[in-house]
Amino acid sequence: MAVESFGTEREDIQSNRFQKLKMKTDDEIRAGIVFFDEEGKKMFLGAKVHTGKDMKTFICKSTKEKKEICCTHVYSANAPRYHIGCVLVTYVLGKDSNGKLKLKEFDCIPWIFWEKTYQKITSADKEFPIISHDVKLKCTNGEFQTIDVQSCNNSIWLSSEDLKKKVLEKAKPLYESISKNLGMDASVSEIKEILGIDVEGADDAATDVDLGSVIETIA
Ligand SMILES: [Zn+2]
Repeated sequence: MAVESFGTEREDIQSNRFQKLKMKTDDEIRAGIVFFDEEGKKMFLGAKVHTGKDMKTFICKSTKEKKEICCTHVYSANAPRYHIGCVLVTYVLGKDSNGKLKLKEFDCIPWIFWEKTYQKITSADKEFPIISHDVKLKCTNGEFQTIDVQSCNNSIWLSSEDLKKKVLEKAKPLYESISKNLGMDASVSEIKEILGIDVEGADDAATDVDLGSVIETIA
């Protein structure tokens, strides 16, 4: 990215603008899981990552064919886990003059979680498909963000084409921001650094330079 010139007007420059769902113990919300295609296959983004206490979370480098150092090195977090994200639409409901429940406002927020929560979502989905139903999220432990997922009534955000369009517009950039918040996309030498493995030379840069010949060329 190019160098820019500006004064103090830049509100978009902040240390970490990424805001995700954070619930407190006993909080309960009704939400829709937003999807961006007809079949609901563009609903989640996920990556296998290595994560541990006091360690930067980074994306696993291994493939089906080859295990890389992130998985072969001996340390507490060498088994990768799925880190998954989606965008939730949350609602502010109120009653109209006839006492009927009405949608007053909606908001969209990314939700990032681990494999276990994904399993809770898929079992709620088996009961009532989440491509047509909202879910009820209940936080049972705020510190660890343990969240129970239950199926709920028909999706509010899909109840009108106009509302669906507005929700998708708001959710799209948030969905795209999830990828870089699942874990650091580190190079092998960066991973070695995170794991505290001695890096001999820098394997990303040109190695094996014969300094003698360089000096001769300069002279
Ligand atoms: Zn790995």
